[in-house]
Amino acid sequence: MVIDLHVHTAFSDGTQTPSELISEASMEGIDVVGLTDHDTTAGWTLAEDAARVYGLGLVRGMEISCRYEGISVHLLSYLHDPYDTGLAEVVQETRRARLDRTHLIIERLAEDYPIDMDAVLSVSGEDATIGRPHIADALVAAGVVESRTEAFSSILSSQGKYHVSLPTIDPITAIGLIREAGGVSVFAHPRAAMRGRVVPDSAMTEFIAAGLDGLEVDHRDNPPQEREAMRRLAHEHDLIVTGSSDYHGTGKPNRLGEHVTSDHMLAKLLERAASRPGGVDYIQG
Ligand code: AMP
Ligand code: FE
Ligand code: FE
Ligand code: ZN
Repeated sequence: MVIDLHVHTAFSDGTQTPSELISEASMEGIDVVGLTDHDTTAGWTLAEDAARVYGLGLVRGMEISCRYEGISVHLLSYLHDPYDTGLAEVVQETRRARLDRTHLIIERLAEDYPIDMDAVLSVSGEDATIGRPHIADALVAAGVVESRTEAFSSILSSQGKYHVSLPTIDPITAIGLIREAGGVSVFAHPRAAMRGRVVPDSAMTEFIAAGLDGLEVDHRDNPPQEREAMRRLAHEHDLIVTGSSDYHGTGKPNRLGEHVTSDHMLAKLLERAASRPGGVDYIQG
């Protein structure tokens, strides 16, 4: 089976509706999709309907924005209960903090570029988790840059003068909340150094001790030479190893299914989820 466990829709910074995404995945020969919009489960219902129409397997998930000692960490949560108040309140607060932070970035940008909050809101989906990709889209619409990629490599870089970091929760708390909500936690693109600093090995050990379930090893942002060490670490601690595209529609060059997860590892993920009270079911293709 072709299993891609990390994709985004316009409910965060992807560019498609869940139905468009599932339809494209089906055409591309993908058998199972993991829907992981940033800090929201708002796309789940539409994705569920589309998965049933197209006969695709669906793992409902979410990518949670965390910070560890000032370093951005993304945690994938799979099959958790979306109504579990602990986790739901945390991501609701993160979505709110993202709005405040976008206002601050826009304030800084407006000194040099023709951009305002309305421009950002007009390029983002209703109910979407707002982020820098939407600011990038507004800059493209204003003719300041050609693409999101160009915006991120210049104006929106986390090293740049307009950057404002996102205050959010620490990964160790998040790992606990995911588990309490009946979900399975996977550390997304753990070695993505091109996005900014990555956590030290000691942090990885702490996350594992806190109950982290898996590592997203096969992802384009993890340098290939570091993947074998990650696989060894996962094996040592009986962790789930995933591979995914992190597809964002036309928002990024990543292609659906460019990295995949094995049948065996998907089974392991589903087993872990089933062993925890709470949580939602896998939707069979
Ligand atoms: P934020 O969460 O608001 O800090 O924005 C980070 C998001 O921007 C991540 O989820 C990435 O998907 C996206 N992103 C990072 N770098 C790029 C890039 N070069 N091109 C397009 N999107 C990017
Ligand atoms: Fe994203
Ligand atoms: Fe991410
Ligand atoms: Zn992602």
